[in-house]
Amino acid sequence: MADVFDLIVLGGGPAGYVAAIRAAQLGLGVACIDGGVGSDGKPSLGGTCLNVGCIPSKALLESSEHFHRCKAELKDHGVTTGDVRIDVPAMIARKNKIVRGLASGVSTLFAKNKVVSFAGKGRLLPGMRVEVSPLAGGPVETIEAKNILIATGSLPRDIDHVPTDGTIVVDSSGALDFTAAPEKLGVIGAGVIGLELGSVWHRLGSQVVLLEAMETFLPGADEQIADTAFKEMSRQGLDIRLGARVLSAKIGKIGKDGKDGVQVSYENSEGKHSIEFSKLVVAVGRKPNTQGLDVNEVGLLLDERGNVHVDEFCKTNLPNIYAVGDVVRGPMLAHKASEEGIMVVERIAGEQTRVNYDAIPWVIYTSPEIAWVGKTERQLRASARDYKVGVFPLSANGRARAMGHTVGLTKVLADKKSDRLLGVHIMAPMASEMIAEAVLAMEFGASAEDLQRTIHAHPSLSETTHEAALAADGRTLNFHG
Ligand code: FAD
Ligand code: NAD
Repeated sequence: MADVFDLIVLGGGPAGYVAAIRAAQLGLGVACIDGGVGSDGKPSLGGTCLNVGCIPSKALLESSEHFHRCKAELKDHGVTTGDVRIDVPAMIARKNKIVRGLASGVSTLFAKNKVVSFAGKGRLLPGMRVEVSPLAGGPVETIEAKNILIATGSLPRDIDHVPTDGTIVVDSSGALDFTAAPEKLGVIGAGVIGLELGSVWHRLGSQVVLLEAMETFLPGADEQIADTAFKEMSRQGLDIRLGARVLSAKIGKIGKDGKDGVQVSYENSEGKHSIEFSKLVVAVGRKPNTQGLDVNEVGLLLDERGNVHVDEFCKTNLPNIYAVGDVVRGPMLAHKASEEGIMVVERIAGEQTRVNYDAIPWVIYTSPEIAWVGKTERQLRASARDYKVGVFPLSANGRARAMGHTVGLTKVLADKKSDRLLGVHIMAPMASEMIAEAVLAMEFGASAEDLQRTIHAHPSLSETTHEAALAADGRTLNFHG
């Protein structure tokens, strides 16, 4: 083990572990300290994303989608099934197996790339030193480095008057581990987590009510897509109540049969309401995690939201100390976190890498999926930029019709004069995959004409991007039907 590491990475999530591996590949002597534990209570690398975020939620979305298809969609295709049932513990066990496999894959990559891994909590000390308290107990260690990368991620935000108890009232992690579909599930917050996990349990049979404080649904998404999504999700059966201010949540016996549950009171423009749920998920956003770092001791600057303050290259106010991922400003997305981690270590190694914050894709994994990159129409209007817009509905796309998934659209926004792409917004099955084309186009500074001249396979959902780009110039062909 090196006496003084070239780099200590604090946190082994997608920001930290990717940075640690890349740094080791660049020849740096790297240590990574991670305090994450898996559902079995053992150390588990991969952070929120792998253990209680991106991966487990997508595993459950996939399982619940299969169940829903069998129950509700296969009949249309002439496929008859018997009595379709869901074995929730088996579904959760599958999810846990995927998580364990990927987390142990990170450990293997650490070993292969000679990253020295510490399972413990790290605390910053003056003089480029970090104190490590091992998760397994035992003596505290102090290690030293020429550079430190803080990648300690985020934690669920809570609301004062709605305390979680881990059983009836849970955060997003709890909602990944229900042993059965709750009869009546309440979700506070109709954001990304609320919609994804609300969809999972709704497909498995729960009656789901989402209480959203804002009057606007998905304000970060394009308005037209948000409107279409609101209608579609309501049609699917998600009961989304906008402008709902939660006043209290009281855990106790509910209903005529006195089952365990929670009584929630909330207020909207029509007055005060009370509603009972078997389980309640609090999904009102996440907060940067600087717990236990001792930022004051070393003089590390935080911004007014509690994020570690960084510049565009993720440098903090302290020399040779960097911070990346959810703990800093910007979207809380795994791919943004990894990209920042790679940028920092490549710059430490002398390269001139930068992150293109204008070309970060967003995805909401509902059915259909919602994905976008770049500006929304609302943002363009506010910036008074002269833009053109092309929209193509899924209902006019041959592949979508063959799939039986015709709700959705693709929208292309481009500068009116230069034709340069400003944003692409998609609501379609596998929009998460379709958006990659638009991200690449924007990364290369492409124009709407570039998308028009790119040959798209037929029949494919990506033809809607081609058609929307044509529509931006009033030239929709739609000859494919
Ligand atoms: P984290 O993944 O939070 O990792 C930080 C790590 O640091 C953790 O292991 C933590 O234990 C450790 N740590 C913290 N403090 C210390 C300390 N003092 N010492 C040692 N270790 C410490 N994003 C997407 O892009 N796509 C998705 O589909 C997606 N789905 C999500 C679903 C859910 C339910 C949730 C909750 C999040 C989801 N996200 C998704 C967001 C994504 O998980 C985060 O953006 C991402 O994990 C951030 O990576 P990070 O490395 O910055 O932090
Ligand atoms: P979010 O910001 O997407 O949604 C939180 C919602 O809760 C917002 O709509 C907000 O208006 C609402 N809200 C806040 N306070 C409230 C209150 N008191 N009562 C009712 N509603 C309230 O946050 P999230 O869904 O918790 O997700 C956290 C982060 O994780 C997000 O930043 C997201 O980027 C990330 N994430 C990403 C994905 C993905 O990329 N597919 C999936 C899940 C989570």
